[in-house]
Amino acid sequence: MVEVITKNSDETKKIAAQICTKLKSGNVLALQGDLGSGKTTFTQGLAKALGVKSRVLSPTFTILRQYKIENSKFSTLNHLDCYRVSGPSDLESLDILNLCGQPNSLTIIEWPERIACILPKTTLKISFETLEGQQRKIILPEELKI
Ligand code: ADP
Ligand code: MG
Repeated sequence: MVEVITKNSDETKKIAAQICTKLKSGNVLALQGDLGSGKTTFTQGLAKALGVKSRVLSPTFTILRQYKIENSKFSTLNHLDCYRVSGPSDLESLDILNLCGQPNSLTIIEWPERIACILPKTTLKISFETLEGQQRKIILPEELKI
């Protein structure tokens, strides 16, 4: 595990952009952390680095937002927020297992603990902790070391 401390949201977005270079087609990222710890901010930084033009909002009320990407190693960014999901059966209609790991896609899941049992074994876990003030601790797996 690798720990990074960021001092503001721009730094968190910058870390996300750096991590982007380490990601591969079909990767699934599970972003764990309390409300306000920076999961959506991180996703915004990643989306920008991938060239997503539209604004990335928290998908809390929609569960899933999909973004098309051009001229990148990914053609689709799937952004899921499982905050309001009580278990995997809530997601059946989304066919999440089919979505996760599709070639040329990148899937980012907030509140992954709600659907832990259906996540692919290869899911990369990133944790967020709120420290004092605007500081956040981001814990990354070795393979995403920057
Ligand atoms: P989450 O998706 O984990 O609930 P958000 O990314 O939506 O969290 O919200 C994080 C909030 O904290 C935003 O308002 C952001 O501007 C603020 N913030 C302050 N410092 C940081 C930081 N170091 N990294 C990320 N967000 C930060
Ligand atoms: Mg969020």
